Amino acid sequence: MNSITHLGGEHCVTGSCHLLQANGINILVDCGLAQGNDSKSRGHVPVMCTRFFEEWPIQPKHIDYLFLTHAHIDHTGRIPELIQNGFAGEIICSHPTKALLIPMLTDAMGFTDLSEKEIHQLSKKIDEFSWGFEYGHEFKLKKGITFKLGRAGHILGSAFIQFKISAQADAVTPLEDLESSDTYSIIFSGDLGNKKTPLLPDPDIPDPCDLLIMESTYGNRLHENRENRLERLHAALTRALADNGKIFIPAFSLGRTQEILFELDRLFSREEWQNRRIPVFVDSPLGLKITTLYTNLSSFWDKESRGLQQNGDHPFDFDHLYSVPSFKDHAALLDIPGPAIIIAGSGMCTGGRIIDHLISGLPEPQNDVFFVGYQVPGTPGHELSAMSHQPTNVYLQGRKVQIKAKIQQLTGYSAHADQQGLIDWVQSMPSKPGKIKLVHGDPKAQKELRDKLIKIGLNVIEP
Ligand SMILES: [Zn+2]
Repeated sequence: MNSITHLGGEHCVTGSCHLLQANGINILVDCGLAQGNDSKSRGHVPVMCTRFFEEWPIQPKHIDYLFLTHAHIDHTGRIPELIQNGFAGEIICSHPTKALLIPMLTDAMGFTDLSEKEIHQLSKKIDEFSWGFEYGHEFKLKKGITFKLGRAGHILGSAFIQFKISAQADAVTPLEDLESSDTYSIIFSGDLGNKKTPLLPDPDIPDPCDLLIMESTYGNRLHENRENRLERLHAALTRALADNGKIFIPAFSLGRTQEILFELDRLFSREEWQNRRIPVFVDSPLGLKITTLYTNLSSFWDKESRGLQQNGDHPFDFDHLYSVPSFKDHAALLDIPGPAIIIAGSGMCTGGRIIDHLISGLPEPQNDVFFVGYQVPGTPGHELSAMSHQPTNVYLQGRKVQIKAKIQQLTGYSAHADQQGLIDWVQSMPSKPGKIKLVHGDPKAQKELRDKLIKIGLNVIEP
C-alpha cells in the first residue's frame, strides 16, 4: 500500500522527516534533528516533533532511498543515527548539498558522544552512500518512480523534490485519498526561500502535482521589505559603531554567514565605508570551511554574484575580513577593542564560540548584538532577541550574564518565504495542486496559511 507518514517536523519547524512508501519502495525525505523546544517536552506534554526509530512503521534498514532537501542539520542531523540503526540505502540530493553534507554532519557529530573513530567511519559511509544530482532533470529511480530537483532558494543546494509514481499492478492503492490515476506526482517543498536572496537564484516554478507537501514556517507572518534591507543594515551599523563598540552577529555557518558577508561586502564597496575599514571576523571553523565550499560552488550562484566574480570582485570577500580558525586566536579576539564585527555560531546561541563573545561582551553598553534569522523558542537566541531594549540578565551555559549591550533584530534576511511568498510560489504553478499538506510550521502558522490558501480556492488537507 502506498502512503506518506510524517516522522518529524509535521507541526514544528525542526526535525523534518517524511516517509513515502510507494510501489514497494521506501523513500525517506530528510532526516533532521529537533532543536530548541521541539526537542523537549512542553510541561507534561511531550512534543511529537520527531518519532523515535522504534516508533517508525519500518526499520531504517528497510529504507531504500533517503532524499535530502538541503544540508541544514534540522533536515539531516539524524543521518548518523539512521546509519547506526541499519540504514544502508542511497542518499540523493543536489550537487552542492552533497558537498556541504559531510562537513556539516562531521561538525554536528563532534557535539555527540561518538568517538573520533566512529565519526570518521560514519562520515566515510555518508560519503559512500550519497550522490549529487542536477537540478531540473527527471531521473528514474525504480519500479516506475522518477524524481526531479528544483531550486528552492533557501541555501546553496536547497531543493524541492518532485516524485512521479506510476501505478504498479501490485500496488495500486492511491496515496492518501488521491484520485486513482496511472501516474501521480508529489512535491516536497523542503525549506523554501525568497526571491532576491544573496548568492542564490530565485526558487524555480514547480510543475503541476497531485499532492504538495509544503513548509509553513512563516505561514502567519509577512517579512519586512527586503528591497531596502541594505539601507537598514547601513543605518544599524552606523548607529552601532558610533561609540566604537563591537557588533556580535550569531549566525548559522551554512547560508547565513555567507549571506551576511555578501551584504557587508556590498556595503563596504560604497565610498562612505571605504575609509573606515571596520574589521570583520568570522570566528567559526565550520563557517570558514563552508564559506570556502560556497566559493568552490560558484557555478550554482546567481547571475549577480557570478557577474561580480567575473569582474574581479569576489562577492563575499574583502580585505578587512579576517578568519579565526584556531581557538587561541578566538581567545585573543575576546579582548580586542572595538570597532569590530564578529560573526560566530551557533545561530541560535545554543553553543559555539558566540557564547564566549556574549559572556564577555553583553555587559558592555557600547556593544551590540544583531539577530538576523529565525530563533526557535527555547533557545538562548530566542530569549535574547525577545529582550530588545530591556536591560536585564540572561543565563548562558549556566552563567548569569548582565545585558547592557543593545540587542537588535535585523529584518529582511529570512531564509524562508513568508506567507505571501508561499502563496505566490503555489500560485506560480501552471495549475493548482490537487491537494496541499502543510508541514514545518507551528499549528498557529499552519492554521492561518491554510485559511488563506482555502480562500483562494486551494484544497488543503486538515492538519
Ligand atoms: Zn533550512
